[in-house]
Amino acid sequence: MAQPSARGLGFTENRLVRHSAERDAGLVERYARDESARTIAIAGDIPILRRNGGSATSLLRLSDLARVPERREQAFLGTLSGAPVFATLLDAGAAELFTDDADFLTLDLRSIAVQGLVPPDELGILAEGKALLFWHARHRFCPNCGGPTRFACAGFRRDCAACGVQHFPRTDPVAIMLVTRGEFCLLARQARFVAKSYSCLAGFIEPGETIEDAVRRETFEEAGIAVGEVRYLASQPWPFPSSLMIGCHAQALTEAILLDRDELEDGRWFSKAEVRLMLAREHPEGLITPPPIAIAHFLIRSWAEG
Ligand SMILES: [Zn+2]
Repeated sequence: MAQPSARGLGFTENRLVRHSAERDAGLVERYARDESARTIAIAGDIPILRRNGGSATSLLRLSDLARVPERREQAFLGTLSGAPVFATLLDAGAAELFTDDADFLTLDLRSIAVQGLVPPDELGILAEGKALLFWHARHRFCPNCGGPTRFACAGFRRDCAACGVQHFPRTDPVAIMLVTRGEFCLLARQARFVAKSYSCLAGFIEPGETIEDAVRRETFEEAGIAVGEVRYLASQPWPFPSSLMIGCHAQALTEAILLDRDELEDGRWFSKAEVRLMLAREHPEGLITPPPIAIAHFLIRSWAEG
């Protein structure tokens, strides 16, 4: 079967050339002198956008940050059509310096993605920058010896001056799976979900575990269903805070659902016809799937329409 198109998935388009082999000590200063340089800026975990007609851009001029008295880490993400792009971490309070300025907009990244406020290829840059800056903000001390760590490798490493250990940004793999049995698929909801929204099961992959085994373990733990064949479909950076969603289709071997009520509020088998109504937002009970930016939507749609 041909791989279905994953276009439209949030955070997956990123046109940056990363120049990862050039990340020496002077790289940030070198590129910051370039007049075409741009930066995304994240205050705490809130991106600052510049209004651009009816939409917005996350790519600010470096001079846009002149009003901010104190900036924290500034990492070099790469170049976009030759122009350097940075990610700058600001204190959470810095967002207030932009809220009264009609040229700017401050909003959480999930809302930016769902509302399509910036071009799709900027969402990938925002995902990269947000995950990287989150890591900097929470790794100021060495997990090995407790000493302070410092910015290195243009923002893609932190070094401990006391014990010399180098620390690298983390990405947390999450298995997300649509479990199917013939013409039915298993969807569930957590209490914190948007009302009437049903989605795929998902869970963090643990050390020493394959993607396939994580799919089988999580499905059994959360729904009591045994899974056989697992097939990878697509992946998606999910910067809340630094996950990589690994999307799979999984075939159920059993049918009786035993929900983990600590994790899930409800879960059941849905027919293909019912899922199509949910995707089209025409379900008689008003049940819906997650929005198109989410990989769960893609996994559900590719099965329902495949
Ligand atoms: Zn150390």
